[in-house]
Amino acid sequence: MSNVLTDVSRRLPPFTRKLAQKVTREHLSETAEDYLSAKTRILILGAGFGGLTTALQLDRLLDPSQDVSVLVIDRNNYSFFHPLLWTVASGRTSPSSIVVPVRTFQRGRSFHVLHAEVTGIDLDRKVVETSAGPRPYDYLVLGLGSITAFPNLPGLKENALPFHAPSHAMELRNHLIDAVEKAHQCSDEADRKAWLTFVVGGGGDTGVELAATIYEYLADGLYRRYPWLNTSMLRIVLIGRSDRLMPMSTPTTSQKVRQVLEEEGIEVLTGVSVEGVTANAVQTSQGEIPAHTFFWAAGISAPPLITGLDVKQARNGALIVNDRMQIPGHEEVFVVGDIAWAYDAANKEGIPPTAQAAEHEGAYVGETIAGLLKGKKDAAPFMFKPRGHLALLGRRTGVAQVGPYVFTGMAAWFLWHAYYLSHIPSWRSRLQLLVNWTLAGIAGPETSQLRLE
Ligand SMILES: Cc1cc2nc3c(=O)[nH]c(=O)nc-3n(C[C@H](O)[C@H](O)[C@H](O)COP(=O)(O)OP(=O)(O)OC[C@H]3O[C@@H](n4cnc5c(N)ncnc54)[C@H](O)[C@@H]3O)c2cc1C
Repeated sequence: MSNVLTDVSRRLPPFTRKLAQKVTREHLSETAEDYLSAKTRILILGAGFGGLTTALQLDRLLDPSQDVSVLVIDRNNYSFFHPLLWTVASGRTSPSSIVVPVRTFQRGRSFHVLHAEVTGIDLDRKVVETSAGPRPYDYLVLGLGSITAFPNLPGLKENALPFHAPSHAMELRNHLIDAVEKAHQCSDEADRKAWLTFVVGGGGDTGVELAATIYEYLADGLYRRYPWLNTSMLRIVLIGRSDRLMPMSTPTTSQKVRQVLEEEGIEVLTGVSVEGVTANAVQTSQGEIPAHTFFWAAGISAPPLITGLDVKQARNGALIVNDRMQIPGHEEVFVVGDIAWAYDAANKEGIPPTAQAAEHEGAYVGETIAGLLKGKKDAAPFMFKPRGHLALLGRRTGVAQVGPYVFTGMAAWFLWHAYYLSHIPSWRSRLQLLVNWTLAGIAGPETSQLRLE
């Protein structure tokens, strides 16, 4: 029955097609010509937390009788759920369980998806260049996410490992296994120690969770396979330039996080900066640490496509937006997620570059554009109320900041897993994660290498 309806609706004019689509809940593919001929064209760049939430909100709020086409462009066919990357790195699940195909979200929805690379953005001509050809727009939503920022420190780019993408989690595992194997083969005591020393630069959320994940993978997983290696030789050092860890959270949370990490045996150095890296050591403002492994997790920046735009930017290249998430002087352009430099309209505090904030911004921008199309020009300014703060801190422990309460230990660990399990928008991923986490809990984490290059 639905196929008959689909065939019929394909032959209908654009706005009737959209209505038929809403009624049948079937998704109809749209050609470039359909997009170009729509009365209003909304282009969303990036199908991540911010971009996809904008598209879903527009689907909810746009009236099918309006001749509007919404097109989401992404270079990947999946949306990647960054917060769960830790459980891939710690060998408790596989990368495929933390990505969801973009087309899954599109089923029964009125937006369209173009699987292509965005190669240029011309704000004056209102055209976006893609590997599938140019796409003009009436409204543009920029949600292209961030990349790891590498400041100009001697040897940093050449010797530091980043942690941002699904492949990085696999590389981390491969690297830790290589390092332990090298230590096993090493007869020189000092060099053996350097192979078993893992240094993380960056005392923010990513650095903290990274140090805890390395600890968990080694102490709780890999070392079980090498009983002759002495766990006391393991050295994990976390270096943060700020005077406390996770400066975006409250001082109480920072203090509890430090306590948990130190109880695990992780050395925490705050108020210390990394000054250079070689293949054999990390130079810091407090001296040299002999180590063959250095992970860099101290900051993000906007990708070159964004930093190349001739509009006002913050130091890390994020675009400075007004209180309606628009680029001043280009009010048809909205920015969401990590590449937006935004403030809460009520308390004037900066909005953090998190998935939670990106989703709030996406929902707000979707609502604002839908309102503009209905003639509502006075959208309320953007305000952000964080739901809380969660971080995984290694072997069955974490930290949870919920309202005024901060707690650590098993309860925080459970809350972290329950929250993200309920949040990933795919039943398939949820089941996969549950099975994999349970299996890892019983039989230990995955310790075989998988090289995909
Ligand atoms: C390891 C890690 C753990 C994290 N944990 C948490 C957490 O626990 N809680 C939390 O709130 N936040 C967390 N974050 C931060 C969170 O992931 C980001 O803030 C969030 O992903 C930002 O959303 P976004 O929409 O801006 O970008 P993204 O979600 O990164 O989406 C950007 C999209 O743009 C696409 N894209 C980029 N360039 C192009 C191009 N040229 N052409 C086509 N497509 C392109 C990408 O493929 C991607 O799909 C974590 C981040 C990392 C790296």
